[in-house]
Amino acid sequence: MADAAESMHACAECGGPLRPVQVKTLKHVLKYDLARRLEDGTFGYCPDPDCDIVYVRISPESGVGTSDQVFRQDDIKDRARPGVSGRERYICYCFGYTAGEIEDDAAQDVNAIPLAIARDVRAGNCACEVMNPSGH
Ligand SMILES: [Zn+2]
Repeated sequence: MADAAESMHACAECGGPLRPVQVKTLKHVLKYDLARRLEDGTFGYCPDPDCDIVYVRISPESGVGTSDQVFRQDDIKDRARPGVSGRERYICYCFGYTAGEIEDDAAQDVNAIPLAIARDVRAGNCACEVMNPSGH
């Protein structure tokens, strides 16, 4: 089971399981000065929006999530913060559509946003698998 190794990594703050993410996701969502200095490696993402820790560098020696580097909500660009909830939450990280915008759109029964997203996805312009802070 692939999950067995991953579940060994627990968040130092909330104790929840960390999900593996690629360094390129961190490069996109961390503030620019941090992203520039970020070195390659293996990272875990804490999916709990209430937890202050967002990413942890997983050290290959220990393999149990002891971290030399931790990234918190404050280290993430405003628009990519997973702690944002309600209407301000981003549904599409590539184009910045929020839950509120999509709700309003749906309430007017025009569905312009889903259509616009679908159009951009078809055109190959969507990179949510990178831009979404969960890396998926
Ligand atoms: Zn956590």
